Amino acid sequence: MGLVMTLTQSSRLGLEAGCSVFLEQGLCLPYPALKASRSPGWDGLLPTLCLSLRVEFIKLASENETVNLGQGFPDFAPPDFAMEAFQHAVSGDFMLNQYTKAFGYPPLTKVLADFFGKLLGQEMEPLKNVLVTVGAYGALFTAFQALVDEGDEVIIIEPYFDCYEPMTLMAGGRPVFVPLKPSPSQDGELDYSSNWQLDPTELANKFTSRTKALVLNTPSNPLGKVFSKAELELVASLCQQHDVVCISDEVYQWLVFDGNQHISIASLPGMWERTLTIGSAGKTFSATGWKVGWVLGPDQLMKHLRTVHQNSIFHCPTQAQAAVAWSFEREQQHFGQPSSYFVQLLQATQHKRDHVTRSLQSVGLRPVIPQGSYFLITDISDFKSKMPNLPGAEDEAYDRRFVKWMIKNKGLSAIPVSIFYSVPHQKHFDHYVRFCFIKDEATLQAMDKKLQKWKAELTP
Ligand code: PMP
Repeated sequence: MGLVMTLTQSSRLGLEAGCSVFLEQGLCLPYPALKASRSPGWDGLLPTLCLSLRVEFIKLASENETVNLGQGFPDFAPPDFAMEAFQHAVSGDFMLNQYTKAFGYPPLTKVLADFFGKLLGQEMEPLKNVLVTVGAYGALFTAFQALVDEGDEVIIIEPYFDCYEPMTLMAGGRPVFVPLKPSPSQDGELDYSSNWQLDPTELANKFTSRTKALVLNTPSNPLGKVFSKAELELVASLCQQHDVVCISDEVYQWLVFDGNQHISIASLPGMWERTLTIGSAGKTFSATGWKVGWVLGPDQLMKHLRTVHQNSIFHCPTQAQAAVAWSFEREQQHFGQPSSYFVQLLQATQHKRDHVTRSLQSVGLRPVIPQGSYFLITDISDFKSKMPNLPGAEDEAYDRRFVKWMIKNKGLSAIPVSIFYSVPHQKHFDHYVRFCFIKDEATLQAMDKKLQKWKAELTP
């Protein structure tokens, strides 16, 4: 809601104004006043925001007997060391049942500062540069609330992880969308997420005097794009030119395939001062239910996030933080070696990506091969031309009808990609669906069976 910054009138990076007043004197804007300040938009906004289309498809999949390649979570166990760390956290020191420090369990903020300080080339102070949150979702929400003020513009690159738009709106901001443009692959050639690129002029034109932030997601969900150094440099130079904050969602940073490299935009010259780097223990240790996330950034931005955090969540669960701290300490010792979980998870996930790619190709689907993340999108244009009249409302996007049809008739679930676009752009991207491939071997085999059956039905 941009509540903090609305109060403070502080918006640009350099201004520090009254956040501390809010923090120290406990001032707050009463809810009715907040509501009145938003009227009539507020009443109209909430019902729309409450309904995530992604959730609708997840529900549909659970109501039907499907192989679930829709929702983004591993259906296998986290590594033994992480499970043991959690067990130790719940059965060891009884004080881990109590509150810990508001901005993070100290051993966790320390190891995150050490670990990421080296990767980002920054001296990081646990208390100033790290905030532990309820998952990366919590990190994103806190960042939007802290930095986006009424009427501020936030640039979002499409396709985007769907919460960026409602989070911008809830903060009182205005999302400004810029699509990645796919370059058409030649007939028969494989398509790659790297073929989807920003048009530099179009991107530059999206920056205005009201632009407060740009949201970057690399590797990206749903496309699996890993932004190259040149692409990041373009984003970085525009952010610097226009004094804009970069909210960089890097939850899939360990899952970068084929020798590609993940680059944190905060590590580029001049970017640490204006970047919030967001991570997730759920993605890092295959434990999405732990809901531990973090934000890393410079103190002059982080202090605004701490204010929001202190006035909303205050503490995150201590035991989960302890388990993540020990898991990171373990990884720190094995970093870059074959025994590292990050290395092992990457190898296993790349193998799964290749498996799912081949299987989808066998029924005439055309996957866009991802360079990173655990998702891929696949082109369903051939189906769109062969079976244009799938059941569903006439104005319902084709990909949504396709997924409903696939769930009910083929026993496979996925997520339609148009939901990762702003409404005006959805009709241009209604011929892709997203599959999640971080699944157990048994799930992938079950998928193979479904696809083979589908293939047999296609053969005259
Ligand atoms: N960012 C992206 C790009 C994601 O895909 C997800 C989870 N699907 C999140 C953030 C949220 O992560 P967490 O589960 O840690 O809240």
